Amino acid sequence: MPPSRPQPRPCVGDIPVYVAGMPPTARPGLTPFKLSSNENPFPPLPGVLEAATQAAEVMNRYPDMGNTALYAALADHLGVPVDDLATATGSVALIYQLVNAFCHPGEEVVHAWRSFEAYPIAITAGDARGVAVPLLPDGRHDLDAMAAAVTDRTKVVLVCTPNNPTGPAVTQSELDAFLARIPTHVVVVVDEAYLEFVRMDDPVDGLATYAGHDNVVLTRTFSKAYGLAGFRVGYAVAPAPIAAALRAVSLPFGVSHVAQAAAIASLEATDELLARVEDLVERRASLVHRLREVGWALPQAQGNFVWFPLGARTADFADACGEVGISVRPFAGEGVRVSVGEGEALDRIVEVAARFSARVER
Ligand SMILES: *Cc1c(COP(=O)(O)O)cnc(C)c1O
Repeated sequence: MPPSRPQPRPCVGDIPVYVAGMPPTARPGLTPFKLSSNENPFPPLPGVLEAATQAAEVMNRYPDMGNTALYAALADHLGVPVDDLATATGSVALIYQLVNAFCHPGEEVVHAWRSFEAYPIAITAGDARGVAVPLLPDGRHDLDAMAAAVTDRTKVVLVCTPNNPTGPAVTQSELDAFLARIPTHVVVVVDEAYLEFVRMDDPVDGLATYAGHDNVVLTRTFSKAYGLAGFRVGYAVAPAPIAAALRAVSLPFGVSHVAQAAAIASLEATDELLARVEDLVERRASLVHRLREVGWALPQAQGNFVWFPLGARTADFADACGEVGISVRPFAGEGVRVSVGEGEALDRIVEVAARFSARVER
């Protein structure tokens, strides 16, 4: 007997809820700041705003379905063939597309955990099975354990570098050793959402890595360094057959005309935008330094955020930040992620962190 009412696939009921970063609650006499979503604190550049505004004038028309101008600009910027690109409504959409394009129901996607919370959502929505491999105690990927978790049911492996929310990035040598252990029919995704913020020895060269492997996909976004989170535009760089599969399963007309125009204008303003990134990287270094002075040894912070492994004190810390007008992103029972934003906000974070110093309370 068929059920009396329409029933979604069972996996739909299993999809975890995305917990978005909250806006701050207003406190009398305090400018509120949102440090809960790893957003870029700088307002749009005038040229980018102008390009977007102009594009909005033709909102009665569908966008260019082929994203032609954006593909051309990206290909030129990155020095890769247009056929190796797939744009999408944020790099989150690319994770959905990867699962849709490569996984039969029940096939496996190996990823680190705790990592980007959209992963389990996209994997479950695609009726695939997530294999979550615990991070090392210092917040880094356990690449050995991830390689060991690959089975003949594995279709995709996700490497999030720098890892959201803990912060460390993998090195090129680590990635090379890892790739040598992964069968070539398994897609290895290198999620480079925070690529522009990385300052370390032996950093991953994503473009060289993808160029040397038929199974490596880079996912990148305009949401963080480029400051276009509200417009939803990201892209994959992948060998042509994988890029073609990603484009095939994409939503037609997904990336809006306004988003395409803003992304192109942002690529043209790369120098100015990267100068802002440099500013944020300096703020991050100063924040990490000041936190160390008050007793916090944090995991290596390579993104535009820092991670406080607070365990049971997570909610108290987030509440204390809220009381000084700052929203942060708590992960219940694990820790708090704080985005590197406005200087005044970071001063208040240091004050709160001093009260919660690991040295004092652990
Ligand atoms: C923010 C983020 C993204 C980008 O998401 P968009 O959908 O492009 O806004 C992707 N991966 C990770 C790990 C992130 O933190």
